[in-house]
Amino acid sequence: MELLEVYAGVTAVIRPEEGANIGFVRTADGIVVIDTASYPSDMQKLLTAAKVHAKDVCLVINTHHHRDHTWGNQLFECPILAHKICKERMQASLENEWRPEAIQAMIEDMAQSDPQQAQVMREKAADLRIVLPNQTFERWFSADLGSVRIELTHYGAHTSDLTVVWLPEARVLFASDLIFVGRYPYLRDADVPAWVEALGRLSEYNATIVVPGHGPLCHEGDILALQAYLEGTWRLVAEHLAKGHALEETLADPAFPHYVEGQLERYQNNIQVMYQQMERGMRMVL
Ligand SMILES: [Zn+2]
Repeated sequence: MELLEVYAGVTAVIRPEEGANIGFVRTADGIVVIDTASYPSDMQKLLTAAKVHAKDVCLVINTHHHRDHTWGNQLFECPILAHKICKERMQASLENEWRPEAIQAMIEDMAQSDPQQAQVMREKAADLRIVLPNQTFERWFSADLGSVRIELTHYGAHTSDLTVVWLPEARVLFASDLIFVGRYPYLRDADVPAWVEALGRLSEYNATIVVPGHGPLCHEGDILALQAYLEGTWRLVAEHLAKGHALEETLADPAFPHYVEGQLERYQNNIQVMYQQMERGMRMVL
């Protein structure tokens, strides 16, 4: 974990090993927290490291519903803001895979392959209370807190609710999971063509600093590389499907682009996810 003051009062917590990155923005009205990590105890550690008291936080933003961005929400009593779909998706998950019994079952399942990790999760989930956003917006939201302007724009793509956070004075963009650096992007809930398009729009911000959802601070080259990887893989999967190739034959094609060295399981997994999404009739044209 690394705490980087990317602009006066703006801290990006970069956590390539531990999980999703987090942001803190200090304003005269209080502190804004961008995403809340996977568990309350993880989020508490981040607050302690950044010398932030939960009671001094005036606004929490969830950039999308994935649990590594939302499960620390319970620490805060201030408004928790997210896209309308984020709240809806979290509500739906609470009735399904986020029910306490379902979480226990997931942990027991993990214990079969990784008992140590399962024990860590068991301890972290013991006091978990999943708290939903209590304020929502749809297309765009902005607020002036103290003298700091914060703008939220809905992009979708990685998930249908994904939102980026833009600080115009600082020219800092928290791009959330539109950007993964150093690891393959997670595509299970994604609209890949929309993602390729969304990455093309990020340059319009002309940001000085771009904080990705996962991995170190990124540069224009990282964004272009991710875009080329997603676009190239999607196109090649479409070609294989058009020729009637089975998944196995598609996976065996050495022409697929690699985004990261190694990580072959994730490389193959993403080809498989795209293949299945396309098979289910999602749009094939970029
Ligand atoms: Zn995500």
